[in-house]
This record gives sequence, C-alpha cells and structure tokens, in this order.
Amino acid sequence: MNRVAQTELQCPDCAGQCAYSAVRQALVCESCGSAHEVRHDPDADPGREFHYHPDLPHTEQSLPSRDLIHKCQTCGGEIIFTGPVLSERCAYCDGPVVLEAEEASYEAIGLIPFRITERDAQSRALRWVRERIAAPGDLSDKVGAARVAGLYAPFWTFDSKEAIDYLVKYRVKSGDNWVTRSKSGAMTTEFDDLLMPASHHVTPLIRDGILHDFDPDKLRPYTPAYLAGFAAERHHQSVKEGLAANASDKDLLIRNRIKTHTRLRRITSVSYKTDTTGIRYRRILLPVWILHYVYDDKPMKVVVCGMQGRTFGERPFSMGKLFGFSAALSSLAIGLGWAWGATGFL
Ligand SMILES: [Zn+2]
Ligand SMILES: [Zn+2]
Repeated sequence: MNRVAQTELQCPDCAGQCAYSAVRQALVCESCGSAHEVRHDPDADPGREFHYHPDLPHTEQSLPSRDLIHKCQTCGGEIIFTGPVLSERCAYCDGPVVLEAEEASYEAIGLIPFRITERDAQSRALRWVRERIAAPGDLSDKVGAARVAGLYAPFWTFDSKEAIDYLVKYRVKSGDNWVTRSKSGAMTTEFDDLLMPASHHVTPLIRDGILHDFDPDKLRPYTPAYLAGFAAERHHQSVKEGLAANASDKDLLIRNRIKTHTRLRRITSVSYKTDTTGIRYRRILLPVWILHYVYDDKPMKVVVCGMQGRTFGERPFSMGKLFGFSAALSSLAIGLGWAWGATGFL
C-alpha cells in the first residue's frame, strides 16, 4: 500500500482506519463507524479510452516499483492489500503469499466498486452449491467452512474496427452426394468495450463470473481508496501483451461473425485476414469474491461477481446422485417423447 492511500484511509473524526463499504458506497471507519465519501480528481474521466496503433511507437508510463507486494508461491499472482484487510493467502488460488518488491505496473483509469458484501457473497456461494443437483451431500459443509476473499481483478476493454476478407468452406447436397464448396467475401465489423482479462491469473471462471454484469457506465475514476479492505492485482501487461494474450478469444468472435455474415449452414472451415484499425483501450479493475475449498484433495472455487452477485463455480459430482439424476432425465425424455408423439410433433 502506498503512503498517499494510507493517510486518505485515516478517519478524519477519530484517526481510526477506514475500509470501503459495499453497502454505504463510501469509506467507513472501523472504529467510530462514520462514513466518508471517496474523493476523486474532478477532471478524471473513467470512461476515457486511449488509442493504440501496433505499428507506431506506443508510450505509456509504467509506475515505478514502489511497494512490497504479496506474491503467491503457488500461482505467481501479485496481490496488493490496501487498508485494514491483510491475508496470507492468494485470492486467486489460496496459495501462501510472501512479500516481494513489486515489478513495474500500470495505473488503471477506472474501476467498479464492490456492491455485494462479504456476507452476501458467502451466502450466494453456499446457495450455489446447495442448488447443484449432483453435488455430494457433505459439500455444503465444506463450502460453508471456507471464506470468500474480495479481489479487484485487472481487465481491459478493447475497441477496434475490423476490415475482413474471408474464405469459408461448406458442405452442400448435390444429387445423392455431399460436396464441399467454398465462398469468399468481405465484411467490416466493430468491437466496442470488449472485456478481456489483463492477467493470466484471471481464469475463464473468474472472467465469466464477471463478464455478464459489466456496464462501462458504472466505472468510477480510479483512486486507491476504493481498494481499502480488499485485495487487488495491478495491471502488469503492456497493451501489446494484452492484445496478444486475448487474440484467440477475439479470433473466435470474428469467426462467429463471419459465419453469420455468410448465411451458410454446414460450414467446415473459416480462414480470414483482417485489417484492424481504431484500437482503443482502457485499463480497469473489477470486483470479484472468490471462495476456495478443497474436496477429495481437489482445490475448487466458486466465484461471485462483486457488482451484481452472479455466481459461477466448480464442484465435484456425486456419482450416486448423478446416476439418479440421469435416470430421472431419461424417464422425463421418454415421457416428453410420448407427449410429443401423441400431439404430432414427432
Ligand atoms: Zn473514526
Ligand atoms: Zn496464487
């Protein structure tokens, strides 16, 4: 934690330490309970996007390494703690953390503060597990005993314009045979505020836990006071690294758009070239609660979005319950098949 943040986090009434409250959306003193608004630079615009051109020199000032950070011995995640909360465990993987000098990082332009409280996140994680049909019976005890950890995870938003030339191959019926044909075409498409992880510690589970609830209009200007009481990972990727790390996800989106554009069915392959222009980016932090538990020696996690509480997770299957479930499903299918057959849908 840097010193500027430390004085900001001191309660002006009693000199106690403040943490950011998801309920009151303000800094709340842990000693006297008084609430204090988070102060921003009045000119700061968290919606501001920065231009990037891959062929032009890109200058972005990285922050010098100032502080000791907590580095995970298991996954390598670099976690900072601001204010009263400190943990010896990594929020990403629950591995032990040690203090190390921080590598250079980049400042986020904005963040969305936590709205879901720790207690709420804990009960959502537990409910998620209880609602899983094929979960073993002792699972909710294991999950109930584990604690959620609040983390600000680093993300990018990317905009771009794509001018695409493509070639698709597809199957059509010709007489009695299936034959392969190809079709080439051109299209343009745009991406706006495409949300991408800015750290390889942000796993698909964490990303998907947060993706659906992201609304760029909810961004606030970044100031360390929001992090008070939570863990955070700073931005460490350059823009070039961020684009490269997320290239395969974008490739998938482009392929899907090409498939839609061709209006063809039975497409067997897509190849394309795209001319990408108008790249704009933002570095942001987004709030997530992560609950780690171990079942049968396997580490698992449940992720609760800190914005709206959407919950995703990993859980073991109970073979006994799974069998019962699939038996129930097949009898349901038989019942439905009969019903459809009877009314002429089959
Ligand atoms: Zn106070
Ligand atoms: Zn870790």
